[in-house]
Amino acid sequence: MPAPDPLRPANPGPEPARPARPARPVERFAARTAGMTASEIRALFAVASRPEVVSLAGGMPNLAALPLDSLAAEVADLVAREGQVALQYASAQGVPALREQICEVMALEGIRADPNDVVVTVGSQMALDLVTRIFCDPGDVVLAEGPSYVGALGSFAAYQAQVVHVAMDEHGLVPGLLREALRALAARGVTPTFLSTIPNFHNPAGVTLAVSRRREILDMCAEQGVGVVEDNPYGLLGFTGQTYPALRSMEPDVIYLGSFSKIFASGLRVGWALVPPAVRDRLVLAAESATLCPPTFTQLLVSRYLAAHDWRSQVKTFTEAYRERRDAMIAALEAYLPTGFTWNIPDGGFYVWVTVPEGVDTKAMLPRAVTARVAYASGTGFYADGFGSRQLRLSYCYPTPERITEGVRRLAGVLEAELDVVRTFGSGPRPQLRRGPQAPSPDTT
Ligand code: PMP
Repeated sequence: MPAPDPLRPANPGPEPARPARPARPVERFAARTAGMTASEIRALFAVASRPEVVSLAGGMPNLAALPLDSLAAEVADLVAREGQVALQYASAQGVPALREQICEVMALEGIRADPNDVVVTVGSQMALDLVTRIFCDPGDVVLAEGPSYVGALGSFAAYQAQVVHVAMDEHGLVPGLLREALRALAARGVTPTFLSTIPNFHNPAGVTLAVSRRREILDMCAEQGVGVVEDNPYGLLGFTGQTYPALRSMEPDVIYLGSFSKIFASGLRVGWALVPPAVRDRLVLAAESATLCPPTFTQLLVSRYLAAHDWRSQVKTFTEAYRERRDAMIAALEAYLPTGFTWNIPDGGFYVWVTVPEGVDTKAMLPRAVTARVAYASGTGFYADGFGSRQLRLSYCYPTPERITEGVRRLAGVLEAELDVVRTFGSGPRPQLRRGPQAPSPDTT
């Protein structure tokens, strides 16, 4: 991946609105809402979810393997036996029994945690939002991998934080480039608030941060007074059951975000933050003001599931399905894509990150792909600054292997046509050759 200028302006602060006439009260939005734009992937969802379209765009977990009958019985029993508790408000920090179980889940990646330092949230997305809310003032700088998870970028934008991307290679975030970015920012008197990183099976880049780089990155951040937010929803989804030591297991000041979305069920919206005690109270206050408390019902259901079901085997079943789909996607890319394209081969998680030849613009191409009944996520949605037009993210998590093969075949046809145009007209602005649906402007998954 090319190294972007570490100081490129991203998420520029909103211009103050100067209406010619007083705005209607319902139009007087707070300045921070100017940074809230529809994620390109979410806008694409409507078209991409038509049955005739093979969607390689969204990151929806594959729930087909869930034991729905026994879950249904668990839900019924939960209501019958514990309804008065499950349907009631509860602690803003989360149900104590679940917080203990969450510590057992995190122990699989080497984390030793106290349940008192766990805050249950409505998905780890809410944790990302809350952490940004309590740490970032408008204009503060956040370091994030380039590319980065679109939902994290959304939270940073919502609190008017400036994102400075640090590029990755096949071993994840590049320490030398992080050092360069920190140096360049320090020369301007800027200390980033935190580094937001997805060390395992990255969304969208599919790569995993080399274990040998982890200590170095933590030390660099500690030396410069930069916090670290470790966003790890995919850590248990290694295709051979492999796990990596969490950054939090190496450094207790790391803020760690986890989720049941990928290892159980995303619709339950149960995630968590593990924070240092100095952060906990403020995070709980922020959570309380957002939701009073996370849903008691889904927390208790997750708690029962962890206690009574062989959830580790279930994770293995999930990862076997994902590995089969990854294999189908890689085989199809090798079979159908013309030369000049590169992609990673992920060994866990949901995503393949493809780089296309110069001249092909993945954002501009998207409507033509949808016309050809295949959808992907353009790379531009994963950068805060419009970079990424030569990249695209393909998700293999949801469709069947057959649909994945067909989707890649269709995509290859569209890419061939794009390359023809590039060969004929060069890579500058080009004539409109075909008309398709309007370019959807990225899914939060
Ligand atoms: N972080 C990353 C990297 C993700 O990919 C996602 C969702 N796909 C989330 C956080 C949020 O997940 P959830 O809110 O479902 O826990």
